[in-house]
Amino acid sequence: MNERTILVTGGAGYIGSHACVELLASGYQVVVIDNLCNSKVETLHRVERITGKSLQFYEADIRDKKALAEIFTQESITAVMHFAGLKAVGESCEQPLNYYHNNVYGTLVLAEAMSEANVKQLVFSSSATVYGESASVQYSEDFPLGPINPYGRTKFMVEEILRDLSAADTIIGAQSPWKIALLRYFNPIGAHESGLIGEDPNGIPNNLMPYVSQVAIGKLAQLSVFGDDYPTRDGTGIRDYIHVVDLVKGHVKALEALQSEKFKSGGCKAYNLGAGRGYSVLDIIKTFETVTGRTVNYKIAPRRAGDLAEYFANPELAYKELGWKAEKRLDDMIADTWNWQCKNPEGYA
Ligand code: NAD
Ligand code: UDP
Repeated sequence: MNERTILVTGGAGYIGSHACVELLASGYQVVVIDNLCNSKVETLHRVERITGKSLQFYEADIRDKKALAEIFTQESITAVMHFAGLKAVGESCEQPLNYYHNNVYGTLVLAEAMSEANVKQLVFSSSATVYGESASVQYSEDFPLGPINPYGRTKFMVEEILRDLSAADTIIGAQSPWKIALLRYFNPIGAHESGLIGEDPNGIPNNLMPYVSQVAIGKLAQLSVFGDDYPTRDGTGIRDYIHVVDLVKGHVKALEALQSEKFKSGGCKAYNLGAGRGYSVLDIIKTFETVTGRTVNYKIAPRRAGDLAEYFANPELAYKELGWKAEKRLDDMIADTWNWQCKNPEGYA
């Protein structure tokens, strides 16, 4: 067990709350900063219920430098996991300034506050959306970057800023250099096995898995399958789905790596967090029906603008350098999503 204290930004959100559970279960102390713009404080009570441990919560915006400085003064933070941000691709096209302000400026303020407090270990929530066009459908970390929407560009810009920050340490010969892991998530789904925490999207979900489960439970009438004429095995889009609990285990592994010999001299490194295999939309529907015994009413609809036919992770680097790989199967991801959905038909409301 260790007594290190981790600041979790966006800790009341979907992935952040699962990270809090994993950190507390691994013996870390947890401090959360969240402005609750896309979450509820109830989530944190449930994190405490699952783990039987308490955490410290600050309701504040990461762009509030004074609030951050206060947290770094009050708490003995050793590292930061940075989840806070806006994440809806469509919304980012309509409100680019809001996205750049929250995701890019927010990270600048956080990095400044960390620097002033001399806390220089950071695990950042990046995304597979940073990748550009590539010749292969299995993405490796060294593939060209080139996001195609404002949300993806906020992640790309933050990655660039953090790479620059780390590179500056070499130039100035920093005594305690930055140690940064950029974790590029593929498609996180699922929920904690307790069914106490899970994904609680506002309004009608954009993403496939919450949409499917809301159709299955009768909240939504019908799923639209966006395109059945892609050059894939069944014509529908293929993605790399990863259980959220596997994903947050990857964060704890990354944190451990930052504290290890490997990062002794500092550095900023990107890792894919994906399962390394793809499932089509029809695979998801069929497996969902088998696992839950429910029927998913769907129709074939036109392609959704901006969607790629197929991509999934090459997760080898995370295995080699972090000692992490996804363990859970698609059945587990779906069973846990369904457990959460059935126990919380209205989410946290
Ligand atoms: P989420 O919306 O559930 O969680 C984000 C949390 O951050 C919310 O609790 C929100 O209230 C908080 N927040 C937002 N802006 C803030 C600010 N300025 N100050 C303080 N708190 C703020 O989203 P999530 O799915 O848990 O995603 C977490 C991170 O992972 C995000 O950065 C997202 O871009 C990234 N990511 C998510 C996915 C995904 O599919 N869920 C995929 C790739 C990357
Ligand atoms: N999808 C779909 N219907 C929906 C939502 C998504 O057919 O209502 C498809 C989408 O076209 C993609 C896959 O499901 O092929 C995953 O989409 P999601 O929005 O969950 O994640 P993305 O990979 O786009 O970030």
